[in-house]
Amino acid sequence: MQQSTSLVVAVVGGGPAGLLAAQHLAEAGCQVHLYEAQATVGRKFLVAGHGGFNLSNAEDAPPFAARYAARQPEFARYLAHFSAPDLRAWAAALGIGTFVGTSGRIFPEPEHKPAHLLRAWLERLHALGVTLHPRHRWLGFAPAGGLRFRQEATGQELTVCPQATLLALGGASWAKTGSDGSWRPELERAGVPVVPFAPANCGAEVAWSAFFRQKVGRQPLKNVALSCGGHTVRGEIMLTDYGLEGTPVYALTPQLRAALAGGGPAHLHLHLKPDLSPAQLLDKLGRRRPGKSGASFLAEALRLPPPVPTLLRELGPPAFPVAAPEAARLLSYLPIPVTGLRPLEEAISTAGGVAWTAVDEHLMLLARPGTFVAGEMLDWEAPTGGYLLQGCFSTGAWAARGILRMRGISMRGMSQ
Ligand SMILES: Cc1cc2nc3c(=O)[nH]c(=O)nc-3n(C[C@H](O)[C@H](O)[C@H](O)COP(=O)(O)OP(=O)(O)OC[C@H]3O[C@@H](n4cnc5c(N)ncnc54)[C@H](O)[C@@H]3O)c2cc1C
Repeated sequence: MQQSTSLVVAVVGGGPAGLLAAQHLAEAGCQVHLYEAQATVGRKFLVAGHGGFNLSNAEDAPPFAARYAARQPEFARYLAHFSAPDLRAWAAALGIGTFVGTSGRIFPEPEHKPAHLLRAWLERLHALGVTLHPRHRWLGFAPAGGLRFRQEATGQELTVCPQATLLALGGASWAKTGSDGSWRPELERAGVPVVPFAPANCGAEVAWSAFFRQKVGRQPLKNVALSCGGHTVRGEIMLTDYGLEGTPVYALTPQLRAALAGGGPAHLHLHLKPDLSPAQLLDKLGRRRPGKSGASFLAEALRLPPPVPTLLRELGPPAFPVAAPEAARLLSYLPIPVTGLRPLEEAISTAGGVAWTAVDEHLMLLARPGTFVAGEMLDWEAPTGGYLLQGCFSTGAWAARGILRMRGISMRGMSQ
């Protein structure tokens, strides 16, 4: 039920974090003005919908929060306030059913495209009285207080003075969606520390030989395991002419980034038969008949497809070892030297952003009382699988809660 309050709030940035915060604030009776630099809101949200669109994940709360690594304690709080079940209930209230896939990922029902969800969401915001201001680019804080905007259509500048502000300006990848990180110097000028941006959930670069690039091109390797820095992730990887893509590679970007920080190449270790125990692998390899070529043995006895012999030759000895222990080591711990990460522009998400030392427990900027931040513009990262969007929704909900709390406004279901 809506309560009556005259609190005027500016939400800047129309991604999932800003839109959800706008909804919660409007439901609590605030007058919400949502400013967005682009002509339309939710562009990255719609891009996310082009692939397998994971809204969230059905994982239990403790391992879910652990996905946010160093930020686990904070995200445990945000997720408790707006959880994956809350997200599903929210989508259902918009008429969008969801289901849990076999991997635990939460998807909208197949008949509900992301554009349907966004349309229903905008109708809800409209019904709640949220005023949308598209093509309004936030330029920074006005010297005498307030927020400076430029109307992109006319070039005209204006200053608005809301009673509270939420910045939800996104990360710095996929700039064409509007998330270009151009807010960074403005916040730094205002005394807000920002951790440099870095690509997260992105491909890895490998200096393949010209022969390998030509012969292999782009081919998948299914059901493998990749390791780096003591972490192992199972799944499918894609060999590409510049390196590797795929969920296990994306999940290991924090470890790769740390290893690359030393200056030299970092190593991923590939297990090509992770379903076999070491003894089973040795047993199979010990059955190789003399004279049988390595490639046909790998295909017949181990069901390893054509790019594997080429990959083993590229990274290992010229001939597949005859001795079973040596062959087992190659198949289960093949080192792949990674020379770098793919550019930030291509990354699914951004590491770095507003430093945690810059905000209080309610996500309010210490240097700017009354201004809150949420979503990917904060310095956190998480793997793909629904954790990114859930993190944006949960921080958006939490920052909205912080604004209401600051003003002593209660929200249904919100503890004061
Ligand atoms: C290819 C791809 C696939 C993805 N797939 C998934 C997935 O399946 N599941 C998942 O959980 N996540 C996925 N993500 C990640 C997810 O889309 C993002 O984490 C999420 O959109 C970030 O939300 P946000 O609200 O923080 O920021 P954004 O969605 O980036 O929104 C920020 C908004 O702020 C606006 N803005 C920026 N600067 C200004 C300014 N100065 N003035 C006014 N407005 C401004 C931008 O135009 C933008 O609309 C994917 C991302 C990509 C790129």
